[in-house]
Amino acid sequence: MRFYLPSINKTNLELTGEAHTHAAYALRIRVGEYITVFDGLGHDYSCVVKEIKKDKTVLELLDTAENVGESEIFVTLYLSVIKQDKFELAVQKATELGVKRIVPVYSTFTQRNVSLNYDRLNKIAISACEQCGRSRVPVIEQALDFEELLARTKNTYMIFPWEREMHGNIKSYIDKTKTDISVFVGPEGGITEEEKIKLAECGAKSVTLGSRILRAETAAIAALSVVFYEMGEWVL
Ligand code: SAH
Repeated sequence: MRFYLPSINKTNLELTGEAHTHAAYALRIRVGEYITVFDGLGHDYSCVVKEIKKDKTVLELLDTAENVGESEIFVTLYLSVIKQDKFELAVQKATELGVKRIVPVYSTFTQRNVSLNYDRLNKIAISACEQCGRSRVPVIEQALDFEELLARTKNTYMIFPWEREMHGNIKSYIDKTKTDISVFVGPEGGITEEEKIKLAECGAKSVTLGSRILRAETAAIAALSVVFYEMGEWVL
């Protein structure tokens, strides 16, 4: 079992507050059980449960490890703002797949009446790290406007799935020597012709995800899966 502890004191390892209640009362961990605590910044601590008190679970450190479950490549997902529950799904799945950074984006056809709850998104990313066994919690940044996205990603290595793209295919654009790649997925309303041109001028490559129109969250998960596979992250 993995528990997220944002500030870890190696000489005095213990679960307190919500983590303690969750471990001791919901999961009913026992003295002698092995658990891992991680700080979300790449450090894992394997521990054994020494004592369960009313207000804390006391642990003993056995071993430490770095960057467990972390990908060698730094993948950023720029995802247009979509409804909170769909965005949460994308955050959970992108975290499991190994994305390091998630940035919401507002473009022309983004629904403006949606405001994201960043606290919830962070919690979802943390739970996904606990569940899938990775030690770095992806950073979820504040939303960018489309122009800021362009400025930020100009001449970087970026693909964007575009539902009207006929030929651009991810496989042929993948360069395994790169260590940093971004994926921009547009909103449910799609991106405008002008936005498409601007992205291309900035060096981003439009790619197809097949002949069916996918929901934005599906497009994000599908595109990321192909990127991780083609970059050699999955040895199948
Ligand atoms: N409103 C648009 C669909 C937008 S789908 C329409 O009806 O045509 C939401 C986002 O998912 C798109 O902006 C695109 O980034 C991505 N997407 C969905 N299906 C895709 C496909 N078949 N190929 C490439 N990108 C796709």
